[in-house]
Amino acid sequence: MQNTIHEECGIFGVYAPEQNHPVATEAYYGLFALQHRGQESCGIAVNDRGVIVCHKDVGLVRDVFTASELEKLGTGQMAIGHTRYSTFGTVNRTNAQPLVVRHIKGQLAIAHNGNLTNATELRRQLEFSGAIFHTTNDSEIISYMIIRERLTASSIEAAVDRAMDRLEGAYSLVIMSPEKLIAVRDETGYRPLVMGKTKEGEIIFASETCALDVLGAEYIRDLDAGEIVVVDSSGIRSIRTHCKGRSHMCVFEFVYFARPDSYIAGMSVHEARRNAGKILAKEHPVDADVVIGVPDSGLDAALGYAEESGIPYGMGFVKNRYIARTFIQPTQAQRDNGVRMKLNVVPSVIKGKRVIMVDDSIVRGTTSARIVKLLRDAGAKEVHVRVSAPPFIAPCYYGTDIDSKEHLIACQMSEEGICQMIGADTLGYLSVEGVKKMASEADCDFCVGCFTEKYPSAVPEKTSKDRFEKKIGESSEPYKGARRTEDGEEL
Ligand code: SF4
Repeated sequence: MQNTIHEECGIFGVYAPEQNHPVATEAYYGLFALQHRGQESCGIAVNDRGVIVCHKDVGLVRDVFTASELEKLGTGQMAIGHTRYSTFGTVNRTNAQPLVVRHIKGQLAIAHNGNLTNATELRRQLEFSGAIFHTTNDSEIISYMIIRERLTASSIEAAVDRAMDRLEGAYSLVIMSPEKLIAVRDETGYRPLVMGKTKEGEIIFASETCALDVLGAEYIRDLDAGEIVVVDSSGIRSIRTHCKGRSHMCVFEFVYFARPDSYIAGMSVHEARRNAGKILAKEHPVDADVVIGVPDSGLDAALGYAEESGIPYGMGFVKNRYIARTFIQPTQAQRDNGVRMKLNVVPSVIKGKRVIMVDDSIVRGTTSARIVKLLRDAGAKEVHVRVSAPPFIAPCYYGTDIDSKEHLIACQMSEEGICQMIGADTLGYLSVEGVKKMASEADCDFCVGCFTEKYPSAVPEKTSKDRFEKKIGESSEPYKGARRTEDGEEL
């Protein structure tokens, strides 16, 4: 568990009306736009006349896909892609996605965003019936479930539909068979998945609309919760056996995960964050001279706070975007100084001022404490911290790394205690009602489970990110290796 929250994955799929299309390059651009959703590994699988080839590796999209790798993937009619941040499962090439499997009726490639809540149970059942797993991620379980059903189902989409009877939790999927591209959203609709179309008639599926924009594709719609959309030579069709009602989108997509230029469930993420800032200003007003945001997702909320309060907005921080992969932090002291390397204060905005600093979340409090200290060192007279989300009080089971109460400061301390610990003059969190209202124009309901401990679907009694490693003895220790910020910096 790190000082910030991470999303698990970004997924992308493209179906072109004809063969020999540069689908690998299009997937590359799509993944590039979805890099913020996962920086540990990435991959692209291309379908050329029914033959699926795949390249994937640990690293950022720009590093894994050189011009020569893209050339090797060649052209085709379909491609799917994935960017991964592992909420469990070790970081290695084997766990990278898409996963490509051969089965008795052909090949199948799959890319997944989310976490199954019954993965341990399903995996155990499959292993007892002879299945051998190569990875420690949920996606392999999903592919097994689909392939098993495919043995008796009339089509791949019928197999997916049947497999969904057994899958619980969060999953947005893109699946590629020799002839079809299939997109799927779980019954609760935790993770986003949109459909778009290019001028050339290609159908695109992506976690966020920013991946449509980069290809000049027009947004068609979000997939409904429980929906399966199939694209093949006969057109597009929707299977709605598992559609049970409105989606309960992870509200943290609006607060933090998604890019501000994306639309989720028809609502602009930037506008939702701005609304959060406005609501925050009403809920926690304070006299001050300037409102600043912590880059990146705190900026939009800070703008909203400034607009509502009438207090001027200022650019209080500059973020170093080039720190990325070469930044080495060998000692704790240097690590402590890391925040200064990433984020620097603009002294003229801060010096002698009463500052309202808006951030998107407080996880352990250590990063907030360092940032508040930066402001004090730069001469801030007062620092009032405002958070554009409620306090985290419970784990997330649906594809993020909020995994244990013991790591969440709001489970250990009162708000007053946290305020003191981070060195702020005052502290104010957005209310649960406020976080729901921030995206009131979105055509969905919300999961707010990590803020209320009430989830839209059943949660397992016991779970942890290293569940497979511990259970199958791959490793006695949970993974503690490199985690990266959205810029690729190792934490
Ligand atoms: S528990 Fe929190 S982070 Fe997880 S899906 Fe629900 S709102 Fe999102």
